[in-house]
Amino acid sequence: MENRIEKYADLLIRSGLNVQKGQNVVISCPVDCAPFARLCAKKAYAAGCREVIVRWTDDELTREKYLHADDSVFDEVPRWVSDMHNDLSAGGVAWLSIAASDPEALSGVDPDRITRDDAAGGKALKPFRDRQMSNFFPWCVASIPTKAWAKKVFPELSAEDAVAALWEKILDAVRVYDDTDPVEEWKKHNANLRKRADTLNAYNFKYLKYKNSLGTDLTIELPESHIWVGGEEKCAAGHMFNANMPTEEVFTSPKRDGVNGIVYASKPLVVNGDIAENFCFKFKDGKIVNIHAEKGQELLETATTVDEGASFLGEVALVPYDSPISNSGILFYNTLFDENASCHLAFGDAYPCVKGGNDMTREELDKFGINASITHEDFMVGTKDLSITGITHDGKEIPVFTDGNFAF
Ligand code: ZN
Ligand code: ZN
Repeated sequence: MENRIEKYADLLIRSGLNVQKGQNVVISCPVDCAPFARLCAKKAYAAGCREVIVRWTDDELTREKYLHADDSVFDEVPRWVSDMHNDLSAGGVAWLSIAASDPEALSGVDPDRITRDDAAGGKALKPFRDRQMSNFFPWCVASIPTKAWAKKVFPELSAEDAVAALWEKILDAVRVYDDTDPVEEWKKHNANLRKRADTLNAYNFKYLKYKNSLGTDLTIELPESHIWVGGEEKCAAGHMFNANMPTEEVFTSPKRDGVNGIVYASKPLVVNGDIAENFCFKFKDGKIVNIHAEKGQELLETATTVDEGASFLGEVALVPYDSPISNSGILFYNTLFDENASCHLAFGDAYPCVKGGNDMTREELDKFGINASITHEDFMVGTKDLSITGITHDGKEIPVFTDGNFAF
């Protein structure tokens, strides 16, 4: 296992971030995962980076803050935090985020505190977020197990065994094995995803229609000159990187006001440190007009109203039901993994997935119907029986998904 973990750290630095000589590297990481952060730092220095800057996170401290900090704390972001994000991103930093939260870390916290904190962060870190969404700098989100998270995934195991089991699943999902070169594996994987995106781009669909037995009946309009992307992407300096590891999706942006119908979630969703389950969204002209959830009603209502754009879609992503993470049969309670086991949508901010989008101003993106928000939250909608039909500009109907998998 140790050998695989070291190869994984190397993969994140080389294929995830593609760290360049002289580049600054930020590693944002739970303090529980310090040994892994050190491993990544060593790999980054070996790649010739200028300096590794570590931003420690801690679920317990975050929870304590939301429960007990002075109320004024949630309306402002300290200058040093915004300066750090905004200055480093302007300089083309490479940013690694290790996402490994306890899915229920913030259960019972006052949602108003989370919303205000999100809003303050969205405002103060806007330059950073805009540069991230347009791939100005290379960034990568990946995960490693923590005890709290692993116990949620494998409740029947001891904490130690659960961590070992989750490691195994994560390393499988990111294609890191003892006997193969993961960097080469990712080159092949990226090429396959690219092929899928190319096929979708050639069709240039105007609408996608989703249907399944959960009750989903949704039409999504796609913007003029939208582009599907998948796998590696290019940062402003021209270097390729993988923003998510694992990734199994190809995705594009929906047209902001062109979504109508109802969509049912196919997996629980961890949002704002708590879990929503068995929910559906009803859309009218792009906007979520009704939410029904068996669990997490308030959670979803809060998350989709943090600003105006939060109640519109910002991502359409296709993942076959027969994909490695999905076939593992495990519910990860971590969106990075669960979204790559299932077709998903996101409410909130959209990636500028239109031709030339990375260089467009906000006003230009608005014209194409690219949504803007301080939030971006993926939720899973793919099922074994999901069908998606693409409708071309001249009205032809082409099967895109049949029985949960790509039709081509
Ligand atoms: Zn996605
Ligand atoms: Zn997303």
